[in-house]
Amino acid sequence: MFQGIPVSPGIAVGRVLHYAPFVPQKWDKTVQDGSQAQELIQYEEGIQAAETELQSLCDRLEKSDPEKAKIFHAHQDILHDIVIDEEIRAAISDATSAQEAVYQVFGRYAAVIAQGADPVMRERSADLLDIRARLLRCMQGQPEQDLSSVHEPIVLLAHDLLPSDTAKLDPDKILAIITEVGGISSHSAIIARSYGIPAVLGVPNAVSEIRQDTVVIVDATKGEIYLNPEKPMQAAYLEKREVFQKQQEVTRKWLSAEPVMLDGERVEVELNIGLATKQELDASCHLDGVGLLRTEFLYMGRDTLPDEEEQVKAYTQVLRAFEGKPVIIRTLDVGGDKKLSYLNLPVEENPFLGNRALRLCFQHPEIFLTQLRACLRASVAGQLWIMFPMVGTVEDIRKAKQLLKQAQQELDQEQIPYADTIKIGIMVEIPSIALMADLAAKEVDFASIGTNDLTQYTMAADRMNPAVGHYCQMYNPAVFRLIGQVVSSFSAQGKPVGVCGEMGGDSLAAAVLIGLGVRRLSMGLSNVAQIKKSIGMLDARRTSEIARHVCGLSTADGVEQYLRQQLAEIL
Ligand code: PEP
Ligand code: MG
Repeated sequence: MFQGIPVSPGIAVGRVLHYAPFVPQKWDKTVQDGSQAQELIQYEEGIQAAETELQSLCDRLEKSDPEKAKIFHAHQDILHDIVIDEEIRAAISDATSAQEAVYQVFGRYAAVIAQGADPVMRERSADLLDIRARLLRCMQGQPEQDLSSVHEPIVLLAHDLLPSDTAKLDPDKILAIITEVGGISSHSAIIARSYGIPAVLGVPNAVSEIRQDTVVIVDATKGEIYLNPEKPMQAAYLEKREVFQKQQEVTRKWLSAEPVMLDGERVEVELNIGLATKQELDASCHLDGVGLLRTEFLYMGRDTLPDEEEQVKAYTQVLRAFEGKPVIIRTLDVGGDKKLSYLNLPVEENPFLGNRALRLCFQHPEIFLTQLRACLRASVAGQLWIMFPMVGTVEDIRKAKQLLKQAQQELDQEQIPYADTIKIGIMVEIPSIALMADLAAKEVDFASIGTNDLTQYTMAADRMNPAVGHYCQMYNPAVFRLIGQVVSSFSAQGKPVGVCGEMGGDSLAAAVLIGLGVRRLSMGLSNVAQIKKSIGMLDARRTSEIARHVCGLSTADGVEQYLRQQLAEIL
């Protein structure tokens, strides 16, 4: 399985098409004295040809998609930028070849922008490189390579997609997009979202390791890609795709509903987010907060760690959008299946049982402290709850809190403000801490149950390995019993306990969770409407009876069958 950043949700199954954008032919770096006039002509003709292409692209997009046309109007402006033009002309008169001058000058500006502090500006360096590629191609007299010539639906795989590549996509022919680079605010992500094409970006080594024509499953709700899946797995994902699409339809109707049960009891419905999309932030008014901000997505699909400023900005944006509602920022959870190539971490035999999340952060306190400082600094923008992932022991909690205190002391010394209302919590996703929940609860303000990992560790079945997928049973009564124990322990001490694993967004499981006493469910945006609808059809007494019955059953299949039969009306 490959993991990347899900930037445009959806699910697709299809064949891979490799797309390699234009690679310019080599050119001489310098020219003989006296050839400058000829070089200048080549440059000016190139500008003219590029301008003609951009104008016809804008004319076409102006009718079909004015938002996208704006991107290429900006390209026209950059193409004619006076400072860049002067520098290119000066280099040519110094006997640099026209192509080398274009290559160097545009490259220099792109590099400067790429190193800036503002992540949105950094993404704009791709625009400069896009314009450079167009200009060089025009100077070499080559025609435009065109993705619009794709005839049958495919999964598009590329190292990167330039804005001009994505703008010409025929959304009916592109089932999904996979790239090795890019992030949530890169143009390819913006355009994929606007077309509704599922997209997973920042997938390391995808181009070299996924061959042309390979059949893949792209689960862009989670950022997962599976190669050569067997027919039953393909069928399962096609079914998931259908469910996803149906959910999208009901979303519009139920998103704004109040999550109140028939007996009047309210269940908090919160959002799981990776890097916040506009759609997610815009939905804040319909949600009770963010139950899980998976910060690792900020660290993926790039070559260096995000610095403190970038993190402050990203966290602040979410806290502001949720206007005083709780936002649970989960500290870095890398390792396991989520690799950061630039950290050069040793290969592990069992990465899920290895140096992951909090464990890794303890080994790299400088990375952890930078993140904690950023969280604290952002806390003034809203109601921050900090959550530590992969807690296995009470010592883990104490150590993490100690480091948080260190970050607070640093900020105190620097007289940098942070909120004094921050709640500190843990993810309960390792059975050892679930079994110790009564004592763990004394150390923290809240807990959130990570049912994805809690299931894999309870069932001893790798959640990424399709070969043991049937052992990784979310509906196994053992998992529900363990959750029940955690909920009782935290509730008895008056500490909030929620669920932020996939179970929280699963209607059948959510009913059992409510029956076990959970009153905070967190899920991806695409599940919110369905869960709100289910909540409205349940009541506390009925869910407790269902939960009691489920915990007494002996198999996961038995549980699922029972729930389907009992809860047919909510599905
Ligand atoms: C979980 O384990 O349930 C969880 C929410 O965290 P993640 O899926 O990111 O491991
Ligand atoms: Mg987890």
